[in-house]
Amino acid sequence: MKNKLVVVTGVPGVGSTTITQKAMEKLSEEGINYKMVNFGTVMFEVAQEENLVEDRDQMRKFDPDTQKRIQKLAGRKIAEMVKESPVVVDTHSTIKTPKGYLPGLPVWVLNELNPDIIIVVETSGDEILIRRLNDETRNRDLETTAGIEEHQIMNRAAAMTYGVLTGATVKIIQNKNNLLDYAVEELISVLR
Ligand code: AMP
Ligand code: MG
Repeated sequence: MKNKLVVVTGVPGVGSTTITQKAMEKLSEEGINYKMVNFGTVMFEVAQEENLVEDRDQMRKFDPDTQKRIQKLAGRKIAEMVKESPVVVDTHSTIKTPKGYLPGLPVWVLNELNPDIIIVVETSGDEILIRRLNDETRNRDLETTAGIEEHQIMNRAAAMTYGVLTGATVKIIQNKNNLLDYAVEELISVLR
């Protein structure tokens, strides 16, 4: 049988990486071992091999053709990993670029990955805005609450499209302030 592939998405700063790492740790205590792969990291490695970037946050400003070319190479690398073990991919449903919303999983990537579950991590635009302002480790884009909320609407729409195209289920998980453990538990119950 094919190994499970779960895709975890969320706008930058919502905490999808954090809750995924915590869920993985707890699941490994139960003997459930997924490999966690960050799509952006795989893309960044490809982009660095081509001397295109120094900072991962520069990639969303590339021209769309370059983003799609690197995205495709990264998708193929991740599809290879799914042959070895179940995989959780930490990525984005859409990427907000200067030229508009870029689908994180265009159909040529989706068909290689063939995901079972798409998870969308969300919270309010206000909470995300504050989290971005407090994160000095990243070059997060400064956006209004309305802009963040528009991005989340597009992410839901894109995620459901990925579901329609593959048959994957789509799960929305809220990651509210001070309720991180609750979000982690919900993610664990989906991954278990
Ligand atoms: P992250 O560390 O998750 O914020 O990802 C860093 C960067 O990787 C993003 O800003 C995007 O430029 C890129 N990236 C991540 N996932 C995808 C994807 N599925 N498609 C295209 N670009 C992506
Ligand atoms: Mg992340």
